[in-house]
Amino acid sequence: MQVKTQTDELQNYLTDASNLPGGFAQKLFIPNTREEIAEILREANEKEISVTVSGARTGTVGGAIPFGGFVVSLEKFNQIKEINEQERFAVVGSGVVLSDLQKAVDQKNLFYPPDPTEWSCQIGGTVATNASGAQSFKYGSTRKFVEQLKIVLPNGDFLKLKRGEVFAKDGFIELETENGNRIKVKVPTYEQPHVRKNTSGYFSAENLDAIDLFIGSEGTLGIVMEIKLKLLKKPEGFLSGIVFFKDEKDLLEFVDEARRLSFDVHNENQDLIQNPKSKIQNLIDATILEYFDENSLKFIAEKFPEMPENVRGAIFFEQEMTAENEDALFEEWNSLLEKHRAALDESWFTTSEQDHKKMRDFRHALPVAVNERIVRYGQRKIGTDMAVPDENFASFLKFYKQKLSESNLDYVIFGHIGDAHLHANILPKTDEEARTAKNLYGRFIAQAIMLGGTISAEHGIGKLKSKYLQVMYGERFINEMAELKKAFDPNGILGRGNIFDEKFI
Ligand SMILES: Cc1cc2nc3c(=O)[nH]c(=O)nc-3n(C[C@H](O)[C@H](O)[C@H](O)COP(=O)(O)OP(=O)(O)OC[C@H]3O[C@@H](n4cnc5c(N)ncnc54)[C@H](O)[C@@H]3O)c2cc1C
Repeated sequence: MQVKTQTDELQNYLTDASNLPGGFAQKLFIPNTREEIAEILREANEKEISVTVSGARTGTVGGAIPFGGFVVSLEKFNQIKEINEQERFAVVGSGVVLSDLQKAVDQKNLFYPPDPTEWSCQIGGTVATNASGAQSFKYGSTRKFVEQLKIVLPNGDFLKLKRGEVFAKDGFIELETENGNRIKVKVPTYEQPHVRKNTSGYFSAENLDAIDLFIGSEGTLGIVMEIKLKLLKKPEGFLSGIVFFKDEKDLLEFVDEARRLSFDVHNENQDLIQNPKSKIQNLIDATILEYFDENSLKFIAEKFPEMPENVRGAIFFEQEMTAENEDALFEEWNSLLEKHRAALDESWFTTSEQDHKKMRDFRHALPVAVNERIVRYGQRKIGTDMAVPDENFASFLKFYKQKLSESNLDYVIFGHIGDAHLHANILPKTDEEARTAKNLYGRFIAQAIMLGGTISAEHGIGKLKSKYLQVMYGERFINEMAELKKAFDPNGILGRGNIFDEKFI
């Protein structure tokens, strides 16, 4: 095991994509075995030293940033242990990088859909944040693919959780660790907001599966060291398009109809069995529906000079296809786009894997460009990650646009429109603009909560959003989360300050 204490050796582990300043740590551990993780945690637990779990640090809410104590990096847990083609699953160390897993499963003609845009993240990080991305519109978030977790608890005990094995009963979950210790956990009583994606606090449900407590727990309950993931058969191909609109109203009506048609197929195909009715009947069944507002397009125009001018927005869509239904599906999308007056001649369509990658690069280019610009001005991005119930989406988008255009701040709005989940990224150039942006962010939070939404649909709460989670749930439910944490981590050593303030422990 490597142990590092020098400032320059620790530097990279003191920050993440949130650019939250001030991170510091006493020691960095890079363990190779589960026994080494257990040893670190036992020492920390005895001495009540805080421990921050570090993945690839691509998180945007400061979850992996330490404020004192130990940092444990999972980078050596980077083995893909098994890819089972027959039963379609993979067993991986939590430090495996997402793009490495994607490549490995692709070579075996399999497919792992959770795709949080930033492919350099670790699988452990995606489990800890229940990451999701563009393809979650059809396939769901990371949670849907996690079959089993091997975890080291804060006292050094080992815990194995298999989906479908331990459920809540009469409001409690009872677990047994490898050493025979029993843990009784009171399940939180809050209801999840009625949104399509949510990463605000611990998961709760009436018939809660114990494994779901750890997915999205942001390094606060235990260290995930090994994960078994469900895989899908690799689709034969994808039809992809980036379609531009000259009128925003047309774009929104197009999205409405494409979502409705896709939901009809998704609802009949809950298990993602890959012989869906859509393939037989050639129905619209989008895997991706992503939005770019006019500002977003202008923001990356330099990198994509072939982009048409004078357009008000764009939609990136994808759908699985086969050689047999390629033409028929193209016809379906074409007529839907024509109906909603898309700028068809200037839009881009492809079925080739290479061009399809280019379209994904187009989608990836925006958050990357935003981060570059933020660094250039020495400011922090003020980015929203809220989602609201489907029926309130149109009014929420209107609210975003009205307030942002009144503010005179630079901004882009983009993201997962299929899931009623957009990111408004405000790009302050000065400290004064940053203050205005922060105030505006607070108003967006309040509006999302008022509309029955969530303050975080995919990035998690981390350290940056804990005070807003308190507004969303109120002290009573934050206390329930803290109780849950104490059942696993009585000394409150793991992920201090993530999800809720330390004062609740
Ligand atoms: C350009 C860009 C685009 C992004 N787009 C998306 C997106 O579309 N969707 C999305 O969901 N996210 C997105 N993200 C955020 C980020 O990529 C995800 O949150 C990712 O899952 C974090 O993984 P990581 O390995 O970097 O984790 P880290 O940032 O290192 O850690 C995240 C949290 O997980 C905990 N953690 C990490 N590993 C473990 C482990 N093994 N056991 C227990 N806890 C652990 C950490 O303590 C921390 O609280 C984006 C980020 C960037 C920079």
